Amino acid sequence: MDYILSIDQGTTSSRAVVFDHGGQVVAMSQREFTQHFPRPGWVEHDAREIWQTQLAVMRDALARAGINASQLRAMGITNQRETTVLWDRRTGEPVAPAIVWQDRRTAGLCDELRATGHAPGIAAKTGLVLDAYFSGTKLAWLLNHVPGARVRAERGELAFGTVDSWLLWQLTGGRVHATEPSNASRTLLFNLKTGTWDREMLALLDIPPAVLPQILPSCGVMAETDAQLLGACVPIAGWAGDQQAALFGQACFAPGMAKNTYGTGCFMLMNTGDQPVSSSHQLLGTVAWQGPSAAARPMAYALEGSVFMAGATVQWLRDGLQIIDSAPQVESLAASVPDTGDVFLVPAFAGLGTPDWDGQARGTLVGMTRGTGRAHIARAALEAIALQTADVFQAMSADSGLALTELRVDGGACRNDLLMQIQADVLGVPVVRSRVTETTALGAAYLAGLATDYWASSAELSAQWQEERRFVPHWDDGRRQDHRARWREAVSRSRGWAKASCS
Ligand code: ADP
Repeated sequence: MDYILSIDQGTTSSRAVVFDHGGQVVAMSQREFTQHFPRPGWVEHDAREIWQTQLAVMRDALARAGINASQLRAMGITNQRETTVLWDRRTGEPVAPAIVWQDRRTAGLCDELRATGHAPGIAAKTGLVLDAYFSGTKLAWLLNHVPGARVRAERGELAFGTVDSWLLWQLTGGRVHATEPSNASRTLLFNLKTGTWDREMLALLDIPPAVLPQILPSCGVMAETDAQLLGACVPIAGWAGDQQAALFGQACFAPGMAKNTYGTGCFMLMNTGDQPVSSSHQLLGTVAWQGPSAAARPMAYALEGSVFMAGATVQWLRDGLQIIDSAPQVESLAASVPDTGDVFLVPAFAGLGTPDWDGQARGTLVGMTRGTGRAHIARAALEAIALQTADVFQAMSADSGLALTELRVDGGACRNDLLMQIQADVLGVPVVRSRVTETTALGAAYLAGLATDYWASSAELSAQWQEERRFVPHWDDGRRQDHRARWREAVSRSRGWAKASCS
C-alpha cells in the first residue's frame, strides 16, 4: 500500500493530509501559526515558523496514518498565494518577515503606477489588476527597504519566492529554487501568454532577475525531499496555489467547469482551457496549472473572481448584530421565513470586489418595514452571499463565452443547505457539493499522483470525484431575473458611500 502526502500551507495554519488511492483522507494534521500586524494595513508571517509548523504537521500526519515516508509515492504542495519571502541563499535565513497577501503597504506604489498609465498594459501581460494584493510590489518593497537587500540581490545572494518556493527550498535542503506557473501568475512578474518571467515587468518594478526562481511545470517530479526530514526521500511531484489546487481537486478539468469556495470570502475559478482569456468584467486571468500530460505539458488557464464578504457576513450576524450564537444557526433562522420580504443586505463592509471593485462602497440594508425581523436579515445575508456569487458567475460567462452548466462548491459555508439551494435558485444552474471537502489538499495530491502514475489519468480522477448532494434550481427565469435586478438596485445604493462622507 502506498499513499500521497499533500501539504497545504494556508494563511492561518499549516496542514498535511495523507490520501489513499481512492482519494480518501487517511489522516490529517493541522497547526496554526502567528499572524503579525506591526502597523495598520500590514500583515506579516515568520517564514521560519511557516516551515517549522509545516514540517511538524507532515511528521504528525504520517504518525497518525501509521505509515512511514517510504510508503509515500509522492508529495504535493499547495499554498497561500502571493505572500512574498526573500531569503539568503547561503544561510537559508529570511532577510525580513514575509509580506502576506492581505498586506496593503504597497497600495501607494500601485496608485503611482496607475497614475502613470500602467494598469492596462499590466492587465494585458499578467491578467491581474494593479493591486497591492500581488507579490511584485511586495518584493520591490523588500528590495527597497531591507538594508543592503538590493545590492545583495543584484549579486545573486538572495532568493525570492512565494510560499511554494520557500517550502520547496526547505524540503530539498536548499538544493532547488523553483516555482510553478499557477503561483508565478500571481506575482505581477509573469507573462501569461509566454509562460515566462516578463522582462518589462521586471524592469518596471526594478526587480533583479537574479532573485527569481526557475519555473517548472505544476505536475511532474521536480525534486526529492531531503532524506533526514521524514526518514526517506519522497518525490515532490505536484504543486499549485490553493485556489487553483481546489479547482483541480474538484476535477474541473474541462473548459467551462467552475468551482466556488465559500470561506471568509468566496473565490470562484473557471477553467478556460489552453488560452488565457482577457477579462472585460474585472475578473483576473490566471494560470490554473501546467500539466498533467507528460508529452506536451500544456498550460491550463482560469478566470478568477473574488467576493470579500461571504462567511464573514455570517460572522457579522453572530459577532456584530449578535442575532445568532454560531454560524450554522443562520440556516434555521433564515429558514423560519419564506423570503426576505424584499429586504436586501449588501455586505460591502470592506468595499466590493468582483465585478464592482468599489473600495468606497459600504454595507447597506434596504427595503425594511415594520414587519422586518432578524430572520429576514439572516435570510438576506445568505441571499447576499449567493447573489454576489451570481454576479461573479455572470461575469465569467460573459468573459469566457462559455455556458456554465453547474457550479461545484466547497469551503466551510457550503455545508449550509439553504444557502446552497438559494445559490442554485439565483444562478439557474445546479450547485454540486463534493463528498471530499479537503479539495485544496486533494488537488495537490492529484497533481503529484498523476506525475508518478499513482493515478493513470485525469479521466480516472473525474470518475473518482463523487457528489455528496446536488441542489437544482426551483425558480423560473422571470423570478430569477427580477430578483437579480432588484439586487443590483440594492448594490447601486451601496456604491461610493465612503467617498461621499469625505467630500
Ligand atoms: P476560511 O478558510 O476562509 O477560514 P472556512 O472554509 O473555514 O473559511 O469557512 C469558515 C467561514 O464559513 C466563516 O466565515 C463562517 O462564518 C462561515 N460558516 C461556517 N459554517 C457556516 C454555515 N453553516 N452557514 C453559513 N456560514 C458558515
